Amino acid sequence: MSKVLIIGAGGVGSVVVQKCAQLPDVFSEICLASRTVEKCEQIQSRLSRPIDIAHIDANNTDEVAALVNRTNPDLIINVALPYQDLPIMDACLATGVDYLDTANYEPEDEVTFSYSWQWPYDQPFRDKGIMALLGCGFDPGVTNIFCAYALKHYFDEIHTIDMLDCNAGDHGRPFATNFNPEINLREVTLPAKYYEDGDWKTADAMTVRWDFDFPEGIGVHPCYLMYHEEMECLAKNIPGVKNIRFWMHFSDNYINTVRVLQNVGMTRVDPVDYEGHPVVPMRFLKHVLPEPSSLAEGYEGKTCIGCLLEGEKDGRNRKIYIYNICHHKDAYAEAKAQAVSYTTGVPAMIGAKLMLQNVWRGEGVFHPEQFDPDPFMDDLNKHGLPWVVKEL
Ligand code: NDP
Repeated sequence: MSKVLIIGAGGVGSVVVQKCAQLPDVFSEICLASRTVEKCEQIQSRLSRPIDIAHIDANNTDEVAALVNRTNPDLIINVALPYQDLPIMDACLATGVDYLDTANYEPEDEVTFSYSWQWPYDQPFRDKGIMALLGCGFDPGVTNIFCAYALKHYFDEIHTIDMLDCNAGDHGRPFATNFNPEINLREVTLPAKYYEDGDWKTADAMTVRWDFDFPEGIGVHPCYLMYHEEMECLAKNIPGVKNIRFWMHFSDNYINTVRVLQNVGMTRVDPVDYEGHPVVPMRFLKHVLPEPSSLAEGYEGKTCIGCLLEGEKDGRNRKIYIYNICHHKDAYAEAKAQAVSYTTGVPAMIGAKLMLQNVWRGEGVFHPEQFDPDPFMDDLNKHGLPWVVKEL
């Protein structure tokens, strides 16, 4: 019996709330707080059991701490934006409450991301006797757990990790992003950092291409090398790993549109003067693009996210592919969500569940691959994200 405070009522937040609400024995009380309280009300109205809702500006640590003191949760699930990670972690330290998120911290005024801001919270969290689980969505999140599971059951050592993320769906809009547009565009326009022979290297964004044949009828789709945050912790936590790459499928239309937006300055994150008003072009762009949650109805097709892993077992080379396929239609039928929100929200709920049940427990700051992957993998099968292992 535990209370959870979920912050962020967007596409992912809506799924997290619904999945937590399905498990009243674990999540006996739920409070959903976000910047636009009307979105909390919409989610609340869809549930068959009561939850509390609240307005919060999660950039403000004192406001978060005051809400924690009022609602007394055991855990905060942060599914707002990466900008809010540090203020919410500070509020956890102030109030002694555990923390979980799905995306690493980014400063608003600079396009970059790294765990270097959140790792220094390890000692303060230990001192306070509380736990933070970072990056517990699908990627990061399940991708980390697939690596830990493979290491436990299939390899003595993993040498190469290729993470492949394909959304082969069609939302019918000329251009839209499947999670928060600002965060998505910042991520895809960064140089592609990758780990090769134990060193970090970079390539220009969206230039290194791999046409990968995805399983179960999804077929061949162009994927592009890009930097993703779980590479940083997997390089630390998977012993013996030499190569780590992250590949994401982008359609030609997506790449062309992003290039045009970049070329005309619409992805800038610094304020420009517009008729006497400071306007951040990326913010304005986010404002006019569709909200991720609005794509759900009528979304066709499926996503396939997984890890292609190479290494050694008993002195012999081994290669396996672990993946999940999620249908947009199924995500909509169950949670009125599209598959990208669904595949992020379900693992966040499972991570929270394992923390509250003390199955995954520790003091300090952790990543999913640092815990026993088996209970998480079992829960993926039980809660809507079944996975497949193929020996290659
Ligand atoms: P949305 O934009 O749909 O939702 C974000 C929500 O956070 C909105 O409801 C927004 O409020 C709220 N919010 C923003 N700022 C604040 C604030 N200062 N205080 C309180 N609430 C705030 O994004 P998504 O749901 O698509 O994504 C949510 C998170 O999930 C992001 O961090 C994203 O990076 C992460 N993610 C992780 C993935 C993974 O696999 N690990 C995959 C996809 C997403 P408002 O409604 O007012 O705008």
